[in-house]
Amino acid sequence: MDALVRCDCQVGAYLWGMPTHPSKLPHVGTTIFTVMSKLAMEHGALNLGQGFPGFPMDQRLSDLVHTHMIAGRNQYAPMPGVPELRAVLSKKIEAAYGHAHDPESEITITAGGTQAIFTVITALVHAGDEVLSFAPAYDCYAPAVELQGATMKWVNLSYPDYRIDWQAVRAQITSHTRMIIINTPHNPTGMCMTADDMLELQAIAEANDLLVLSDEVYEHIVFDGGRHESVTRYPQLAKRSLVVYSFGKTFHNTGWKMGYVCAPAALTAEVRKVHQYNVFSVNTPVQYALAEYMSDAGTYTGISEMYEAKRDLFVQALHGSRFGLKPAAGTYFQLLNYSAISDENDVDFAKRLTCEHKITGIPCSVFFPNLQDDKVLRFCFAKQDDELQRAAEILQAI
Ligand code: GLN
Repeated sequence: MDALVRCDCQVGAYLWGMPTHPSKLPHVGTTIFTVMSKLAMEHGALNLGQGFPGFPMDQRLSDLVHTHMIAGRNQYAPMPGVPELRAVLSKKIEAAYGHAHDPESEITITAGGTQAIFTVITALVHAGDEVLSFAPAYDCYAPAVELQGATMKWVNLSYPDYRIDWQAVRAQITSHTRMIIINTPHNPTGMCMTADDMLELQAIAEANDLLVLSDEVYEHIVFDGGRHESVTRYPQLAKRSLVVYSFGKTFHNTGWKMGYVCAPAALTAEVRKVHQYNVFSVNTPVQYALAEYMSDAGTYTGISEMYEAKRDLFVQALHGSRFGLKPAAGTYFQLLNYSAISDENDVDFAKRLTCEHKITGIPCSVFFPNLQDDKVLRFCFAKQDDELQRAAEILQAI
C-alpha cells in the first residue's frame, strides 16, 4: 500500500509490481491543497490554505436531511436530479439573473462543481480541440481537457488586478478553439469579471462559435456592492454556455460534494450522456433537503455580507504588516504579497510559514502552468473570527 501511496504522483509508476505503462496525466501530482493541508496537520499550523469554511453550516439544513432520510427518501434519485430541487434552482436563477432554465431539460444536479466541470469537458471537448482559459486557474480544468486529447491554451493575468486582456484572448483563438473556461468570482485571485468583460466574451464567443464553461461556484460571495456577472444575464452568451454552481460554497458544507450545471437543452443532453455513466445520480435525501431549505431565498441572500465582514476583519488586522494586499473583490480568498519579506520562491515560503510560523497559505505559482511566481500566497478567510485574528497576529510578526 505504501508504494501505491508514494507513487501516486509519479510518471508511469509501478503499481502492485505490474509493468509500467504511460501515464495519461504525466505532469499531474498530488494537488497543492492536499499537500498543504497535510503539512499543516503535521506541524499543527493554522490552516488557511485549502478553501473550506471553518464554521458550522445551518443545523436546519442537516435536520432536513435527517427528516428526509427518516421519511424513506433513500433510493436512487432521478438521473438529472430530484425535480423539486431543479424547480427551486430554476426560480432562483431567474430571480437573480433573469434567465429561466427549464428544470426538466436544462438543469442537472452533480456530485460537486468539480464533477460538473469534468463531465462538461468530457461531453463536449473532442481530441484535437483547443480550450482557452486564464492563469492563474483552479487546478481541475487542465487535466480534464488533456484527458480528452485536447490542448489547453492560456492567457495569463497579471498581479495585482488580474484583469483580462481581451486582445490577448483574441490572439490565442484558432480554428481549433472549441471552448473558453471562465471563473468569476475567480479562485485564487478574488477578481470579479465586469459587465464589459462579459460583453467582450460574448462577442468573441459568437464570432468564433465557442462554447463557454462558466465556473460560478462563488456566485454568492461578491463584495463592496458589486453584482455577480453571471453569463446567464447575457441571453446571447447563455445560449452557448454551461454554468457550474456549488451548494457547498453557498451553504458551508463543501464535504457534501453537491453542485449543479445549467445549460441549453441540446448541451445538457450531451452532458447527461456522460453524467449517467460516471455518476448516474447524486445523494437523494440531501437533494430533498436542499429543495426544501432553498424555498426560502433568505437562506442564501446574506452570504456576501457575512464574508465581507470576515474579509474586512482579516484585512484590517493585517494593517501595518509587511504583507502587501489589495482586498479581494469576491470569493473567500485573500492574496498576500510577501516580496517585502523574502525573495524565496512561493512554495518554499509557504512551507516555511507552515513549519516555522504555524500558519498555512497556498502558493499562487501552482495555479500558473508556467509557474509564474509573483511572491503571492492565498489565504482562505472562511474561518471563525478568532481564527482570523490569530492568523493576522502570526502574519503581523513575520
Ligand atoms: N476548492 C478548494 C480550494 O480552492 C480546494 C478543493 C480541493 O482540495 N480540491 O482551496
